[in-house]
Amino acid sequence: MASLGICPYCGLACRLRFEVRGGRASSTGPDPSDPVSGGSPCIRGLTVHEAMYRGRLMAPIVRGGKRGRPRTVGWREALEIVARELAGSDPEGVHFAISGRVTNEDALALVRTALAVVGTPNVDNASARVCHSSTVDALREIYGVPASTGTLDDIGGLDLLLLAGTNPAVDYPPMYSRISRARARGTAVIYMGSVAAETSRASDLSLLVRPGGEVAVLNYIAREVIESRAYADGVELVDGFREYREWVMGYDLTRAADALMGSPGELRRAAELVAGSARMGVASGMGLAHGPGGCAALRSLYDLALLKGARVLTMRGLVNVQGVGDMGACPGLRCWDDASRSRAEGRWGPIPGGGITFTDALLGGSPEVILMTDMNPVHSMPSPRAVERALENSFVVCMCSYPNETTELADVLLPTPLMPEREGTVTNGERRVRPVRPAAPPPGSQLQEWRIASELARILGRELGYSSAMDVTREIVELVPGYRSVDPGALASGLDQWAQKGPISPRFALATDPGPVDVPPGSWLLVDLRSPHHFLGGEVTWRVRSLARASGGPAVLMNPADLEELGIEGLRVRVCSDAGCLEAPARGSAVIPRGFIGYHLSNRRARYNDLVPPELSECSRTPRYKFIPVRVYLGDAQLVPPSAGAEISADSL
Ligand code: SF4
Repeated sequence: MASLGICPYCGLACRLRFEVRGGRASSTGPDPSDPVSGGSPCIRGLTVHEAMYRGRLMAPIVRGGKRGRPRTVGWREALEIVARELAGSDPEGVHFAISGRVTNEDALALVRTALAVVGTPNVDNASARVCHSSTVDALREIYGVPASTGTLDDIGGLDLLLLAGTNPAVDYPPMYSRISRARARGTAVIYMGSVAAETSRASDLSLLVRPGGEVAVLNYIAREVIESRAYADGVELVDGFREYREWVMGYDLTRAADALMGSPGELRRAAELVAGSARMGVASGMGLAHGPGGCAALRSLYDLALLKGARVLTMRGLVNVQGVGDMGACPGLRCWDDASRSRAEGRWGPIPGGGITFTDALLGGSPEVILMTDMNPVHSMPSPRAVERALENSFVVCMCSYPNETTELADVLLPTPLMPEREGTVTNGERRVRPVRPAAPPPGSQLQEWRIASELARILGRELGYSSAMDVTREIVELVPGYRSVDPGALASGLDQWAQKGPISPRFALATDPGPVDVPPGSWLLVDLRSPHHFLGGEVTWRVRSLARASGGPAVLMNPADLEELGIEGLRVRVCSDAGCLEAPARGSAVIPRGFIGYHLSNRRARYNDLVPPELSECSRTPRYKFIPVRVYLGDAQLVPPSAGAEISADSL
């Protein structure tokens, strides 16, 4: 029997076709009618079934003491233990961390339970906090809506697409197929980034920018647009235009060229293309959000998009990270407008203000109690040892599908379904609200979080009043900003809906330009890379044998010219930042500029995040995951970048 389900991985949320035998998914195929994947999902999605029954958590588990002996228990006992812990804790010491692996219904029920049942303001979109929260903040500030303004279908109608720090060739293959088709029909593509990612090779112009130099490059382009009066009609009337114009006028070609690894001629050509475009699109990714000054770079990018009347096509990380943020997973519900917060209070009861982010909770101390949905912060956060210490001192409840490094520290494990086993809705990176139906039943006693939240609330003496996922969907339509137009009846019929895409009340936003990052003498810049075979840290995809076989082992990646000059091909080197070290053989990669080091985030044994310092961005509280100064050693000898002191040029890539 064939049934449809949503891919559990990236923010495109492709619909897949599962063959189900004996209650288990036996194969995964494309859904030719899926408007998102166009019937061509990526290899990660097409192998999901292989991971669905490998090493799953099947029943609730409790531990008597930290790292104590695990004991399988019934749901009632597990939830009573959690409820007792919550009831005995100071609400300010409780944290709810919600990942993008749950449905909108799960997220809203948890947000409500945190705020209105437990009474803690500490609830957060944990996945966005370590990836796109600066993107969402910039979109909300400039467009009035925390989401992309364009859709995947818009790509075919563009005459120019600016891809800034994003690599859809690896991260979003169905989107990349659309870009390639559009390019074949004449859409120009500009790639802008600090590594020569796979997507750059299929672009018309590749702008290689020094990390931190993005504001200078984007503002120079904006200046050229303004000087040639090539901006969108009526944009002079938009709030903040005068201040924005003054800001970008400070960026001439000389200043912008200092921020480049390539030649000023490429930048002039990019400015001409942008000025000449009538139907432009922009998309950004982690190359901007995780870099030095990510918030400033994103403001500059979306200001430029506003100036040109361009579509924003930024996709998101985890399958429902957009939806979880929309559902109000942010400290004290601050991401909702006042009217929506009041409506929620009218229905749920008082909502506490204040609150701290997920990253502050784990890197700034230890919450008394932390409840987290499917995630692995010991692998995905910087300074894993600091995260472990925080969790050692907290009562940890993991609602998750698989055991991982973090669940080792859990006091209670509550098993949850994977996305193809869930019911409800997800909102993808386009803000397309997709119905979610179970393609196959979960293999054990897994429960979705909306049910867990309902039961916990009941034990704590409150009724959420949900008897089905659809009950929560109706509350979403009633309360969540931008979801009024969503029709639950249409969702029940299997039809996608759209949450509000804006723009509403657009305005230009200024930012403090961090300038290109200073590299200490003798240091390299470390950047994380994504694998086409794995999704993020690879928690699920490493369970798929074909993907694991295709991955190869960990390697420290360098530009082939650096590797050759140092004569270290295949030799084991040690890479150290101020936070930690890792060791792996040195290999060449044309993606990596000279003087840089690349390392795949999905490598499991020697972890990239061991080298990420625990500092958080002032504006988004996101760790700075990219472009970390590191030292490289062969034995005891430090290896200095051979290109140090020389101009980095695109020709050297
Ligand atoms: S990983 Fe993303 S692009 Fe690949 S099938 Fe899943 S949702 Fe689609």
